Order: sequence, then structure tokens, then C-alpha cells
Amino acid sequence: MAAKAKNRTEGRSKERRSVIYAGDTIPFTLIRSKRKTWALSVEEDGEVLLKVPLFVTEKEISRILSDQRTWIIEHYKKRQKILKARPQSDLTEVQRQALKKRYIQAAREYFPRRVAYFQQFTGGHYERITIREQKTRWGSCSSQGTLSFNWKLMLAPPAVLDYVVVHELCHLTHMDHSRVFWQAVEQVLPEYREQRRWLKEHGSELNL
Ligand SMILES: [Zn+2]
Repeated sequence: MAAKAKNRTEGRSKERRSVIYAGDTIPFTLIRSKRKTWALSVEEDGEVLLKVPLFVTEKEISRILSDQRTWIIEHYKKRQKILKARPQSDLTEVQRQALKKRYIQAAREYFPRRVAYFQQFTGGHYERITIREQKTRWGSCSSQGTLSFNWKLMLAPPAVLDYVVVHELCHLTHMDHSRVFWQAVEQVLPEYREQRRWLKEHGSELNL
């Protein structure tokens, strides 16, 4: 759920790599971008992300990977375990596609209603709403005023879907994740932290 800020993506690069720790090969994605510090994360889908400033040296990357070894192994393995334990759907591919089509149709009808409702409280002006399937995002807000939502939110509790709607609506006024932005979200949804946490923990389960 990031607001698109053009200057932040300039010069950005993404590279697939892997690191070997005593027999364990762990794939990771190295993202260079305009940022001042490095950040490490394990995404819901199990992808390890190392974000670094544009001009970081290979030596520095090696140092981070070495220093963070314990953290990376622990969190990577934990995520893999969760992913493996996830119940598998027994739908055929044809059934899955048919069902997905119905969810997308439902999302096209439902999201505009929720957006219109919450816009009374958040303010901001939007041009259009699109429904998409984004791999790692639940919603987005472009500087042209297009609000996009992931149809998979139709599988989430309604309060979680509403949180994403309010989040993106607030980006119409605040194109960042500053304190003011979160205050705006909180004003409309005082319990938003709970929904945000739900999405972090269960987002990867929203699949047909
Ligand atoms: Zn956001």
C-alpha cells in the first residue's frame, strides 16, 4: 500500500541473489533505491528482501548478510514453515478461474460503494477505481487520483477491506506514510491497527 512517489523510484534496481549459510541456500532480492539506510524483511510469500541505498558497496552487502545471519535464517525458516502448513485448495484450475471472475465482478461493485462512503470522512478527490490482482499490494493510490484495490480483499473480513479503502483514500491527501497520514487514518478508523495486523498475519491466506 504505497503511494506512488516518482522521485523515490528513480535509479531503483532489483536483483535476485542467494546467500549460503552453512549448507542452507537462502534466496533473496536485493533492491537498490534512494534510501539512506538498509532494511531487511521476510515478506508474507517468503521472499527475503534486502533494501539498500543506491551506492552501497558489495563489501557492505556481505557485511549485512553476515551480521544478520541468525535473523535471516530464523525468519526465513519460520515463514517457510507457515507456507508449507497452509491448507491447499482442492479447486480445479477451471473452477478457480470461474470463482475468481465472480469475485472480481463483486469487487467492482463493492469497492466503489465503500470508497464513496468513506470519502465523506477522509475527503480527497479521486478520478477512478480499478480492481486488480497485485502480488504484494492490497491497494494503491496514484498521483492522478486512481485508487486500485486487490480483488482478494473480498476474501478478507469486511473491516479489513474497509481499512485498505480508508488507507488509500487518505493517500489522496497525504502521499506518504507520515504521522499525519496515520492520524488521518485513525480519525476515521480508531481500531485500524488491528486490521493492519490481521492483513500482515493472514494476507497470504487470501487465496482461492
Ligand atoms: Zn500506503
